[in-house]
Amino acid sequence: MAGYAARATAATGTAMPLRGKALAIEHDRQRFVLVTVDLLGVTAAMRERIGVTLSRTHHLEAEAWMLAASHTHCGPVVDDQLSVAYDLDAGQRSAIAAYTNRLEATITGLVGDALERLEPVGLAYGEGRATFGANRRAQFLPPGPVDPAVPVLRVARADGRPLAIVFGYACHNTTLQAAMTEFHGDYAGVAQRELELRYPGSQAMFLAGCGADVNPSPRGTLALVEQHGAALADAVGVALGRVRSIEGSSAAGFELADVPFATAPDRAGWLARQQSEDIYVRRHATLMLDRLNRDGTLELAHSEPIQVWRLGGLTLIALGGEVVTDYALRLKREHASAGLWVAAYCNDVSCYVPSGRVLQEGGYEGGGAMIYYGRPGPFDTSVEQRIVTTAGRLMRRLGVS
Ligand SMILES: [Zn+2]
Repeated sequence: MAGYAARATAATGTAMPLRGKALAIEHDRQRFVLVTVDLLGVTAAMRERIGVTLSRTHHLEAEAWMLAASHTHCGPVVDDQLSVAYDLDAGQRSAIAAYTNRLEATITGLVGDALERLEPVGLAYGEGRATFGANRRAQFLPPGPVDPAVPVLRVARADGRPLAIVFGYACHNTTLQAAMTEFHGDYAGVAQRELELRYPGSQAMFLAGCGADVNPSPRGTLALVEQHGAALADAVGVALGRVRSIEGSSAAGFELADVPFATAPDRAGWLARQQSEDIYVRRHATLMLDRLNRDGTLELAHSEPIQVWRLGGLTLIALGGEVVTDYALRLKREHASAGLWVAAYCNDVSCYVPSGRVLQEGGYEGGGAMIYYGRPGPFDTSVEQRIVTTAGRLMRRLGVS
């Protein structure tokens, strides 16, 4: 299971089935395909492989489809994600590779099914509020922010009955902790299940927001996961009661922003780290030395996927990785004229993405987690500016003010 290095066993069962869902929208001659999965994350390599198939079979290019993970910590490991965090044997590695393969085929099939089932609908957007997320960087002062927004896209038939409800919230799906060894969608899974019960015939889909520094509070039990899921479904219900229909033209864009890492240790530095007391530091150092031996150098920059969908007056920015709250608040502040929805954990989850502030403070989200993700080290200080600039340029290109 993915998400907690401290989990001592493989999965022991399924408490809640995990879902992959697809929604295809054609608006103003632009196609938008959203795929959501109840997983900790997806990798750039998965997106790449699925993308090759979707381009060939459906002429869907990178900007037109989005792969979004809920960041549940009670899902399976996929691909080579967070390989430093887990102590996997050869049998487990091959089971993970086989599952990843099967999952990619399932996703391409799902997208094809969704594209074949288009029917006339209306789109509408609204916003609710949820308050069970708390900034988890309590060791730093002043306390970090949270974003209580619950953005909602309603896809409905003429009579207003929703066919799809896409909703977001910026908070880790970590109500259930390492002691939980059964698959479960966490609060986002409960909210999706609740909404599909409350709005029969609808498909509910969760888009994780920029909540890399936010945890549910309180947390730790199945009762709390039900409570938070119901609270989020209630917030979506409030938003559905005040949606406004989406009019106007549409466009989609996708770019990879190069974000350099800070200077990494040299070979002697990695050899010294191999003597560390900390098993993860040792494992990471060995991985870096293997790469140095193989390639002669370590990767110098991360490719941050930035996708923007403009649906009339609604703009959805989808960032990759575990993005902290500062990004959503800044982008919404700087583009206040647009109905702006900022999602994260999309298209590639291969590290934390700290803001300038969080990078400078340090800690787990600031750079410590890079070890588990097998990246060479913290980002260079330009990380926030590079991402915000690229997102802004994409929005301008798509005609968002
Ligand atoms: Zn996380």
